[in-house]
Amino acid sequence: MKALFLDRDGVTIDYIPYLSRPEQVSLPEGAGKALKQWQNEGYKLVIVTNQSGISRGYFSEEDVKAIHQRIIEEYRRFGVEFDEILMCPHQPSDNCQCRKPSPSLILNYTKKHDIDLSQSLFIGDAPSDIQCAFNAGCQPVLLLTGRGKETKEKLSESQSSIPIFENLSATVTLAIVTKNIVKYNIN
Ligand SMILES: [Mg+2]
Ligand SMILES: [Zn+2]
Repeated sequence: MKALFLDRDGVTIDYIPYLSRPEQVSLPEGAGKALKQWQNEGYKLVIVTNQSGISRGYFSEEDVKAIHQRIIEEYRRFGVEFDEILMCPHQPSDNCQCRKPSPSLILNYTKKHDIDLSQSLFIGDAPSDIQCAFNAGCQPVLLLTGRGKETKEKLSESQSSIPIFENLSATVTLAIVTKNIVKYNIN
């Protein structure tokens, strides 16, 4: 099995810092259609998100559940089904094991679901997403939505060859062209 791991804020939904209410959820243009195509190519769709706003007391775990329910419903209109939404609720001072760039959420998921990481990708907009992909051993992809433009400026030399796309919609070419993986330089 192969998976497409997706960051939430700035990738799967439009970027709003510390978004706390379902009404704030909006899908980027073309995102529903794009994820449907990835799904059709045989990828399990998995959101991987840091939500330190929970630990910081900005919103509750219940609030986040309601937001995730909204995301699931919005994408369902396009026939898109997420396999799982993996979340770290901590802030850095909690010293947890799960906060991106730690790969542990991804590694736990792949163990349970028999996912081949060498066939899998992680699409993100933040340095922690790119580093998480490297740490997990899957293909990092950077989007220029959300915090992506800033992140692009911060890529290290070893990360400079990763694929970069304007938005989620544009990544579909990657799903179709690279049926048998993408061998961009990941090291
Ligand atoms: Mg993000
Ligand atoms: Zn955590």
